[in-house]
Amino acid sequence: MIRFNVPPFTGREMENMKKAVENMHICGDGEFTKKCSSYLEEATGTSKCLLTTSCTHALEMAALLCNLKEGDEVILPSYTFVSTADAFVLRGAKAVFVDIRPDTMNIDENLIEGAITEKTKAIFLVHYAGIGCEMDVIMDIARRHHLMVVEDAAQAIMCTYKGKPLGTIGDFGCYSFHETKNFSMGEGGALLIRDPKYIEEAEILREKGTDRSKYFRGQVDKYRWMNFGSSYLPSDMNAAYLYTQFEQADEINKARLDRWNQYYELLLPLKERGVIELPVVPKGCVHNGHMFYIKTKNLEERTRLVDFLKENGIMAVFHYVPLHSAPAGLKFGRFYGEDKYTTRESERLLRLPMFYQLKEEEAAYIAGKVKEFYGA
Ligand SMILES: *Cc1c(COP(=O)(O)O)cnc(C)c1O
Repeated sequence: MIRFNVPPFTGREMENMKKAVENMHICGDGEFTKKCSSYLEEATGTSKCLLTTSCTHALEMAALLCNLKEGDEVILPSYTFVSTADAFVLRGAKAVFVDIRPDTMNIDENLIEGAITEKTKAIFLVHYAGIGCEMDVIMDIARRHHLMVVEDAAQAIMCTYKGKPLGTIGDFGCYSFHETKNFSMGEGGALLIRDPKYIEEAEILREKGTDRSKYFRGQVDKYRWMNFGSSYLPSDMNAAYLYTQFEQADEINKARLDRWNQYYELLLPLKERGVIELPVVPKGCVHNGHMFYIKTKNLEERTRLVDFLKENGIMAVFHYVPLHSAPAGLKFGRFYGEDKYTTRESERLLRLPMFYQLKEEEAAYIAGKVKEFYGA
């Protein structure tokens, strides 16, 4: 059976994890947490990066830093993972769902402005499959309407939009290091902060509402309870696993892009015949091979293809029941305008196995089976 996902593992993680244990510093903000944060700050050029226990938690921190409260409205796509919405719904804010573009599956930037009311405070967007949203248009809308922008860049590490790293363009960016993502620490994430004015507040939030980060830097002689907060810092053992992968980031990224390009080339004849659709990468976007998907004609055809692949030892999956039609979506949000593409496109999308260790011959076998299904 070819699994849909295998957690990234380079073989050298145990050495660094052993070192973290030998350092006698297995709680947060030890050697490897610092190394991971510095690595991300250097790689993205952002002002500050804080490692967190998950992307969900980074999004929660962003919602708190945006000061979202009861009665506020947040614009987001309905085609996303629940965490994008949970982050601010937890604070009592309402979700206003906007339709997606059928080509990238990202929020349709041209529909955002119409969804703005006097209650709108922020836009939470998602760079689906590591392919950037139309950030120039979105940032312009945000500036004109004084809205905060949070990038759910869970899938978008090492991706750029017009040369700028995704996660660094909005006010806050959130990465995920869950085992299904390109770089992993089991469970984990990071918050990227563009404007340095939010750094101190973010550090306090992350450290149970205390100024402990300042204390460890020797900037205060005791740490105190400064504000509300929680515990969003991961163990240094997990950071050691992640740092090992950052040390081989280019190699991991290249392996995924090789498989992605291989799938694309092998399946191109099916697209040219008009039987399936392939991912679209707009000009100006550089992606990271996070995900390879195809689009079938409809739900019925997708179900048959999933079964056919399973019979041939291949696990292919789909995801995101649109949030607006899910029980919590009905309770916490509303859909603005017409659902032209969200539901329809989500029912056609199928993800093929994609992970760092996926072999060239496995990807060839998988593409071959998809072609066989379509009689090619
Ligand atoms: C994976 C993912 C998340 C959640 O990440 P965690 O680190 O598991 O909290 C959020 N949003 C999107 C778009 C994701 O793909």
